[in-house]
Amino acid sequence: MSVTKPVAASLGFPRIGVRRELKFALESFWAGKSGAGELLDTAEHLRRKTWLLQRNKGIDVIPSNDFSLYDHVLDTAVMVGAIPPDYGWTGGDVPLDIYFALARGAQTTGDTAGCGHPGHGRDVRALEMTKWFDTNYHYLVPELARDQTFALSTTKPVDHFNEAKALGIETRPVILGPVTFLKLSKARDGDFSAITLLPRLIPVYAELLVRLRNAGAAWVQVDEPALALDLTEGERAAFVEAYDAIARAVPDVKLMLASYFGDPGDNLDTALNLPVAGLHLDLVRAPDALGDVLAKVPADLVLSLGVIDGRNIWRADLAALMERLRPVIAARGADRVQIAPSCSLLHVPIDVALETELDAELKSWLSFAVQKLDELSALSRGLGGEDIAAALAASDDARAGRRRSARVHNKAVAARLVRVTEADRNRRNGFSERIALQREKLRLPQFPTTTIGSFPQTGDVRKARAAFNRGELDRVAYDAFLQAETEKTIRFQEEIGLDVLVHGEFERNDMVQYFGEKLSGFAFTKHGWVQSYGSRYVRPPVIFGDVSRPQPMTVNWWQFAQSKTEKPVKGMLTGPVTILNWSFVRDDIPRAETCRQIALAIRDEVQDLERAGAAIIQIDEAALREGLPLRQSQWKTYLDWAIDAFRLAASGVSDATQIHTHMCYSEFNDIIAAIAAMDADVISIETSRSRMELLDAFTAFDYPSEIGPGVYDIHAPRIPATSEITDLLSLARERLDDRQIWINPDCGLKTRGWDEVRPALTNMVAAAKALRG
Ligand code: GLN
Ligand code: ZN
Repeated sequence: MSVTKPVAASLGFPRIGVRRELKFALESFWAGKSGAGELLDTAEHLRRKTWLLQRNKGIDVIPSNDFSLYDHVLDTAVMVGAIPPDYGWTGGDVPLDIYFALARGAQTTGDTAGCGHPGHGRDVRALEMTKWFDTNYHYLVPELARDQTFALSTTKPVDHFNEAKALGIETRPVILGPVTFLKLSKARDGDFSAITLLPRLIPVYAELLVRLRNAGAAWVQVDEPALALDLTEGERAAFVEAYDAIARAVPDVKLMLASYFGDPGDNLDTALNLPVAGLHLDLVRAPDALGDVLAKVPADLVLSLGVIDGRNIWRADLAALMERLRPVIAARGADRVQIAPSCSLLHVPIDVALETELDAELKSWLSFAVQKLDELSALSRGLGGEDIAAALAASDDARAGRRRSARVHNKAVAARLVRVTEADRNRRNGFSERIALQREKLRLPQFPTTTIGSFPQTGDVRKARAAFNRGELDRVAYDAFLQAETEKTIRFQEEIGLDVLVHGEFERNDMVQYFGEKLSGFAFTKHGWVQSYGSRYVRPPVIFGDVSRPQPMTVNWWQFAQSKTEKPVKGMLTGPVTILNWSFVRDDIPRAETCRQIALAIRDEVQDLERAGAAIIQIDEAALREGLPLRQSQWKTYLDWAIDAFRLAASGVSDATQIHTHMCYSEFNDIIAAIAAMDADVISIETSRSRMELLDAFTAFDYPSEIGPGVYDIHAPRIPATSEITDLLSLARERLDDRQIWINPDCGLKTRGWDEVRPALTNMVAAAKALRG
């Protein structure tokens, strides 16, 4: 009865190991506790496990070279020999210490490795890091020189292909495509566009493909997620140039060109006309793309249909997918269709089965990477005519359970959303009226000083939290410990003369998780780690139901801190957009709606803080900018609902209550109108590294409210001298009115030690005093 089935293809699998094996192996290697051999053994073991797992799950197309010790963009830079001169690389194979120096920087005050590589013996900084498209994965930004040359410098894709082949598995190697690679790179000296280096880069790709072909690779997956971005004509032409040249050089390797994270849209025609054997589409992000593609696709192009969500953790609706895919298979033939996840599974946790503490109902709704392989395999078998009734029934039951569950749908939340009025989104009066009342109430000196919220999460703090979580420290003892830390921090801030104090956030593990754990509608995993960058993994909360706030979340801590001082203590909250953007969100209602629900919960907290006596409340929106859609045409819609949610959270207080917000890493030029529309009374931002240049956007816009431009970088252990801070402040005063300026560090201090924080803040206060004269 074997009708030919469309193959089930995997585009990439998480690298970190179910028990975070890669993290522990890396960190032990970096700490000098184990050697390179052990690290590489762990890596090989993880690869083998992943390949075998995929084979056992019935996946037909299994990727290789999706594994990376740190980051796949760094791997690509290293592979093509794009290593800036300061790392001491002299060509040839790239040794591990140079690889990690690029990733993390290297300081060789002593003898770190004694390996004699010329990169040692001086300090080198890490490459810059930035977000991989609109995911929470961060890649290292390759730096290219105007006269950059490229040479194939590692054979990792070939080595890994051979490694899998030795296990009897013929893989489809994955490489990052040349256009996306250049698009993500930055020009080192001067302002040329990295894309102009394409003609020099193509021969390296051609050489790699020849080697892969010689090793036996029939297909190669070339990832070009840049196809989901707004591209210029020149960039589209670069695609044509690159793939024409590659096809000429290596006509006998079949390329599966993978677009993902969005609709190729106006880049689709370019993609469809490239000389490639296959095209992958992300039909989760761009369900409508399929129609366009089917209308235009050349008959012999293999379509890879990304229908299993690689970015979220919900179980798929297999019956609906069968319905949707059947006609495509019928029209094109099973041999010209592949069934795939929307993108690499890198962005989801590995295995739901490990979550022994989640209840069975919730677990039945979830699908992590391992479960997604099962879904994929079932779909492909089902479409091939096999009986997959059991899989369909399980999928139907889970979907139906979710649809009906009282844990998901909360009538009170729905009713409240309907009742929201225009007035709920607006403070009573404009900024000028409000600020007069606030100044009257707060009586702060000119250039008021404050911090962003967190104080050092020292080893002691982390140890106490871990002991509490393990049940070794009881609630009373833990609270007493946190109170002592909080009180010490209040005393310290008073001593050095800060004007607006904070409680220090010692009770918080993480700025989103802390709130998620107190809100209804959120669940947390024990093992649901997802790589954020290198050996840093996060466990994003899962928002599964309507969000509400059963009781106050921060009022007690604020009250405790305020009871210890006469100075004002800021209430400290995470905003709705940030909570949303750093979580796995529901797929059954729009993101905007979940965001509004969170906003109402935060609004309740804001009002409770005000009632308790807080005169200043800060609502952090660190992730607002990160949530911007990949296509500029969709920015407005996002910003409209995101800003609306912030205003809903912030506007329930009287005019005399001062609302602060904080954003890190942000560039503001292109979103300054939206930032102003948030209508916060004070915004603190990260400006020290740009030497206040980020403020130009505010100046140009005539931004009306008050601003705390960060006056020192909290990412480095360096202690800023008073004079440096004074210098930065004079740059700020060139751009802002004195009445607008607050003085604060760039961001929270949780990653710093007290030995750094004490002198740094002391100098900051000294700079403020000097300014006041
Ligand atoms: N209030 C938070 C802190 O100080 C803000 C952190 C952030 O913006 N990333 O840690
Ligand atoms: Zn910040």
